[in-house]
Amino acid sequence: MKKEINNFGCIEVICGNMFSGKTEELIRRLRRAKIAKLNVKIFKPKVDTRYDEDNIVSHNQLKLKSFVVDSTAAIYELANDADVIGIDEAQFFDDDIIDVTKNLSSKGKRVIVAGLDTDFKGKPFGPMPQLMCESDFLDKLQAICVKCGNPASYTQRLSKDDSQVVIGETDIYEARCRHCYMEPT
Ligand code: ZN
Repeated sequence: MKKEINNFGCIEVICGNMFSGKTEELIRRLRRAKIAKLNVKIFKPKVDTRYDEDNIVSHNQLKLKSFVVDSTAAIYELANDADVIGIDEAQFFDDDIIDVTKNLSSKGKRVIVAGLDTDFKGKPFGPMPQLMCESDFLDKLQAICVKCGNPASYTQRLSKDDSQVVIGETDIYEARCRHCYMEPT
């Protein structure tokens, strides 16, 4: 039986650097919505093919079934019957994702968005700044600096590659604090 959700839509944003536990937190919230028997749908952009094509997977191997979409329009279509919508790696979507999340939330849906707030240069990443402004609830998570053990908000890329999107894990990236982070030249 479909639950009444009183048309209470909202946008929740979970942001932070790499290894800060964004996907883990997203999965935690979505699991609870599933336990409450709400219709949950999860999306991730095609560009992110780490670990698993059809699941969102956290670094500690929690996973949930997801739709891999190459456009924001696909989210709008597929999310129509959902009560709760999870979007992972939102920084990789284009700016249309902002209107999509606003429209879905104004239809009474709970939209939970996770993504990197900054890229490896420490600059705002894709649509994330706008999504953070539009959010009703905003959490900025931190990792632990691998150099000194302090809270870390930066993502240090260890390779020399200069393009904004380079998919990798601990082989290419490290969480660093403000003090230990070195801006790429
Ligand atoms: Zn440090």
